[in-house]
Amino acid sequence: MVDSVVEKFRRRVAVNVIEQEPLSSYTSFRIGGPAEILYTPEDEGDLVCAVRAARRLGIPTTILGNGTNVLVSDSGVQGIVIRLLEPSRRPAMEEGLVLVKAATPLASLLEFAVVRSLEGLEYLTGIPGTVGGAVYMNAGSFSQAISTHLAYVELLDRKLEHVVKRHEEIDFDYRYSEFQESGAIILGAAFDLDPGDQTLIRATAERVRTEKRAKQSWEYPNAGSVFMNPPTTYAGKLIEEAGCKGLQVGGAQVSPKHANFILNLGDATAADVIRLMDIVVQRVYDKFNIRLTPEIRLVGDFS
Ligand SMILES: Cc1cc2nc3c(=O)[nH]c(=O)nc-3n(C[C@H](O)[C@H](O)[C@H](O)COP(=O)(O)OP(=O)(O)OC[C@H]3O[C@@H](n4cnc5c(N)ncnc54)[C@H](O)[C@@H]3O)c2cc1C
Repeated sequence: MVDSVVEKFRRRVAVNVIEQEPLSSYTSFRIGGPAEILYTPEDEGDLVCAVRAARRLGIPTTILGNGTNVLVSDSGVQGIVIRLLEPSRRPAMEEGLVLVKAATPLASLLEFAVVRSLEGLEYLTGIPGTVGGAVYMNAGSFSQAISTHLAYVELLDRKLEHVVKRHEEIDFDYRYSEFQESGAIILGAAFDLDPGDQTLIRATAERVRTEKRAKQSWEYPNAGSVFMNPPTTYAGKLIEEAGCKGLQVGGAQVSPKHANFILNLGDATAADVIRLMDIVVQRVYDKFNIRLTPEIRLVGDFS
């Protein structure tokens, strides 16, 4: 039954479809079981056709960007995982705004801005995701968030209509966008950046990169900060003070360098990471009466 549905999807969407593809290769954690179908659209038209086909066939869809903020379950993901990553996509200028597709790496957007002496995004240097993933997560660092200079977002809504939403119509908060609830697929975004001094912008970007390299753990696969910061303090500080640095479950370890990072030492499973997260949450709660909430997104079946 499932095979015939997959076959029907294959017939409608002929190219760039891989079955039972391990998602560990597509996530920065290097963890995750197979996608029943992994599909990489070449453009927006392909994406819309694939989502339409999946809806008609009753197949669930999951969107993946660069996979740098997700933990995929060991059993993988049922249905279609649509991977939106096009490393060669370039942003463009139109009427004073920087237009960029969701599948473009955030790093390409930042470099585009620097080359044109446009400031406002340089504090996001070192965030390894796509523009779509960054808008969905309202990614940020050094007190700056991607939504700050956002003019509008182009998206595919639940009815598969192409909608343009202006910044002021979108609900954003710390590591939150309304897209986490609406189920919209982000297609692209426009940014309103200020003219600046290229040397200063590049120097800020370099400083941010150097500071992050010094503080964060890059030596083992990870997904960045695992927990959100509570309103008045840093999650990493609480985790460290609760004595969790270096704590290990299977192949997953709380980074000895940055306590809010969990590292895959080589053979970690999603179950190891979840178990370790549970222990960290409990220890922090016992010591500070603060319940940490995950920043990373769980993809697949964790029941
Ligand atoms: C070493 C390291 C450092 C990091 N540093 C930071 C940091 O400083 N600040 C920060 O905020 N984050 C940081 N992160 C986390 C991560 O890079 C960001 O959250 C990033 O924005 C995720 O983008 P992505 O393309 O990888 O999204 P993914 O991980 O692929 O997806 C994340 C979520 O977004 C959804 N999504 C992705 N694209 C779309 C789309 N087009 N439409 C709808 N939904 C979509 C997915 O379904 C998923 O739920 C770091 C991660 C690592 C590994």
